Amino acid sequence: MYVLLCANLLTASTISIPRENCSHKAPCIEYHAFMASVKSIFNFFLHKANFFKHFATLVIEVIILLLIFLIAFFIGASLASFAGCVAWRFANNVPQTIPRSFCENCRHALCFWQLIPVVGYLLQGGRCAFCKHKIPGHETLIEIVFGLFCGKIFLLHPDSPNLLTLFLSAWLLFLAWTDALKFCVPAASLYGGGALLLLCHIDALAQRNAIDWCFFLLLFCLMRLFEQKQMFGAADTFVCLILSVLFGIQNFCFLLFLSCCLIILHYAFFHQKMLPFIPFILCSYLFFGCFFPQVINV
Ligand SMILES: [Zn+2]
Repeated sequence: MYVLLCANLLTASTISIPRENCSHKAPCIEYHAFMASVKSIFNFFLHKANFFKHFATLVIEVIILLLIFLIAFFIGASLASFAGCVAWRFANNVPQTIPRSFCENCRHALCFWQLIPVVGYLLQGGRCAFCKHKIPGHETLIEIVFGLFCGKIFLLHPDSPNLLTLFLSAWLLFLAWTDALKFCVPAASLYGGGALLLLCHIDALAQRNAIDWCFFLLLFCLMRLFEQKQMFGAADTFVCLILSVLFGIQNFCFLLFLSCCLIILHYAFFHQKMLPFIPFILCSYLFFGCFFPQVINV
């Protein structure tokens, strides 16, 4: 296009006659052709300038979104790392008040760079820098998954990310981790976190009708029955009740169905008879959060 415009301008300029020297009274055709060519070239460069302006704006927006995602990923991975550390201390009866994290094998206090989620693991090559003991890879995997999930929460609403969803996710993660390690959860975290979530979602409570409350009561009675048969724990019942109130009957049924499917699959592969339930709820929650966010109101 640029070549054609230049050729047009060149042709028009070589055969054009300056207006003052033109013998015709009417405006000459060559003069108009020349002006049209100048206008075309001007429009061409204007169009190019607009294109580059839009392109630069797009690049800046992508960079900002990438930065938001990276920050959110780091927040999510840090939360997962913190939840894992607190859960491990709870499961192994280690006081939470010890200031520095340490290697689970040699008990050497970790440096600050070793504490950076994901990055610390990669820099150490998956082994403790002091005793070369292998660092459990699943902890880093959980940090990555939780970081990605957190990144998605922030990218969905960069202006006002749903911090309550983030809190609910962190609460579920901590409970799931302690449940997986010790088959029990700290009562203060369970009931305190649940009560706080209900208080923050007080409008969701107000929206529930009589049928919803009948369902919650039925669910509570059923799970208490399962508790007596030692199929569920009290923490499982409480977590299920909180999630059913927050998400509604239909969405909670999706969550429960997927959790049960995952448990059946796990049993089919590993034949483990005693399983913690909350980690499977967490897996379902993360699955819906990533692929069907409307189910968990992200
Ligand atoms: Zn070590």
